[in-house]
Amino acid sequence: MSTFSAPKGTYDLIPPDSEAFLAVREALAAPARRAGYGYIETPTFESTALFSRGVGESTDIVSKEMYTFTTRGGASLSLRPEGTASVLRAALERNLHKQGLPVKLWYSGSYYRYERPQAGRYRHFSQVGAEALGAEDPALDAELITMAVDAFTGLGLSQVRLLLNSLGCRACRPVYRAALQEFLRSVDLSFLEPDDEADIRRRIEINPLRVLDDKRKAVQERLAGAPLMADHLCEECKAYHEQVRSLLTDAGVRYEDDPKLVRGLDYYTRTTFEFVHDGLGAQSAVGGGGRYDGLSEMIGGPALPSVGYAIGVDRTVLALAAEGVELTLPARTRVYAVPLGEEARRTLFGLVTELRRAGVAADMAYGGKGLKGAMKSADRSGAAFAVVAGERDLAEGVAQLKDLTSGEQTPVALTELVTTIKEKLS
Ligand code: AMP
Repeated sequence: MSTFSAPKGTYDLIPPDSEAFLAVREALAAPARRAGYGYIETPTFESTALFSRGVGESTDIVSKEMYTFTTRGGASLSLRPEGTASVLRAALERNLHKQGLPVKLWYSGSYYRYERPQAGRYRHFSQVGAEALGAEDPALDAELITMAVDAFTGLGLSQVRLLLNSLGCRACRPVYRAALQEFLRSVDLSFLEPDDEADIRRRIEINPLRVLDDKRKAVQERLAGAPLMADHLCEECKAYHEQVRSLLTDAGVRYEDDPKLVRGLDYYTRTTFEFVHDGLGAQSAVGGGGRYDGLSEMIGGPALPSVGYAIGVDRTVLALAAEGVELTLPARTRVYAVPLGEEARRTLFGLVTELRRAGVAADMAYGGKGLKGAMKSADRSGAAFAVVAGERDLAEGVAQLKDLTSGEQTPVALTELVTTIKEKLS
């Protein structure tokens, strides 16, 4: 123990679990790479206003969960709570949208939200996401959703459910919003604590759709008769949504229509989706996304209808554990060298270097460890072979090659070691 520990709501990724985490990140990115998405990396902090305008003042993310600070120069910056606003900001700033549409980008990184920590909910977490900017085409919505589905399937997950909805557009959403607002204003919420009721009443006025995804059961019961977006979609939105659904069906993607799915961010329009895993308890969302046709204009850009998603890496790892899926990870150390004495250290250091350069993962005992301690390290490393050499071996021009599974040990000429090891490993 030291005086310090990881900040509340965060955790350190350490070996061997960190290997699985890396593999999950890779697997989540693979479908995007295969579909022509380019990698983008943006700063971990941005102007606070980008998020308050882009994500929405009324969202919990912006109003309660951002890590905001003032720089010495007086600028207000925030650690990014999500990826889409930054990606769009960068694409606009670098004029990517003038070089042919859609602009397809994927990203992977750390995100920060000051949330109440619990299993699966952290203040620092990782996402892998993808965005397709500047095209209004149901095939693009279907492409992204299919990519995410393939990412989960590729990892061996079989219990991820896809929830799908449409949030309408600039034409039909306001009409629906008004109808929903009227309904919500008349709902009896007096059973709530006064503060909670005031909170929800405020939300009804600012962002009534968000009330629909209130997680409290008693609130949900009061919403039973609420008007649904599905019944208010304009003809265009209805046709668009039908196309997305039929493209998904053609791609063999199973989904569940969820007319109350609204998600926590303000900028979504039309297609909205979420991936949930029932083995994760309260924090069941492993990923989500949707279309955000108005976001570019909200942050001062041109009209740029876009669609994207973000998958939570931490929760995907938890989902793998919940399903009992073990990933096949790249082998760590294959050969472990045990030098006994000064000269052997020099010789085996050369051998280990040569093996590594030949593509064989190799390690050795450092710090002048004795035979017993060094062999323990060899076993712990997971290596298939140990190479042991002392003064006498060197004098004879050999080293002992020990098969750590069978325990069998044979002397091998130093000049033959690399070739012999490579043969045995293949
Ligand atoms: P969101 O932008 O809220 O839809 O987040 C996308 C995905 O990121 C979610 O489905 C989660 O898997 C993950 N995620 C969001 N917030 C957290 C958090 N506080 N801790 C861990 N994962 C999170």
